[in-house]
Amino acid sequence: MRPRIGVLAVQGAVSEHEAALADVGARTTRVRLPGELDGLDGLVIPGGESTTFGLVAGRSGLLGALHERIAGGLPVFGTCAGLIMLASRIDGDGDQALIGGMDIVVRRNAFGRQLASFEADVDVPVLGDPPMRGIFIRAPWVEQVGPSVEVLAEHAGHIVAARDRTRIVCAFHPELTGDRRLHRLFVDGIRGATASADEDLKGGIRVGSQ
Ligand code: GLN
Repeated sequence: MRPRIGVLAVQGAVSEHEAALADVGARTTRVRLPGELDGLDGLVIPGGESTTFGLVAGRSGLLGALHERIAGGLPVFGTCAGLIMLASRIDGDGDQALIGGMDIVVRRNAFGRQLASFEADVDVPVLGDPPMRGIFIRAPWVEQVGPSVEVLAEHAGHIVAARDRTRIVCAFHPELTGDRRLHRLFVDGIRGATASADEDLKGGIRVGSQ
């Protein structure tokens, strides 16, 4: 199965995410307008500036459409500002527009602003060895996770990647390295969810025909 993954193309490293998704066997399509969310198996929200994204996407109606689709179960992978957009709440400052969908509280620019951009090896136990090379650019961290959220990685004692079923967020930029393991985890999660939905359907038909 080659899932069709949308990449939000409002800002950020869109083509780098497309390349990573293609490498793990997905088809990609750019999303700028609400109607372009139709027929997707999943969505990537790249980094950038979450306040800008909220303003631009709010005006086009994209923000509301994203909220609806993601609340309705569309698998999603958010990196950096994408992580912020998927949070249920931002700790500290208040009223910027979010998409929501992950039961997490985040802190923006948590490692500091411009000067605090850095690289570090990040151990992601679910991916095994070696650690990922994390590129952090004015990165957020996750301060709290709800009971349905699994912590995938920590750096310096702070949560920097997490998963809730087919939703994944990470604070660094995996699309900027050649390491495709997080993109593969996302796409394989979609394949797995589709396969088990097919099984349920077959099971239903079997039961129904008896
Ligand atoms: N600092 C940005 C924000 O708060 C995120 C930075 C990034 O996506 N690299 O939205």
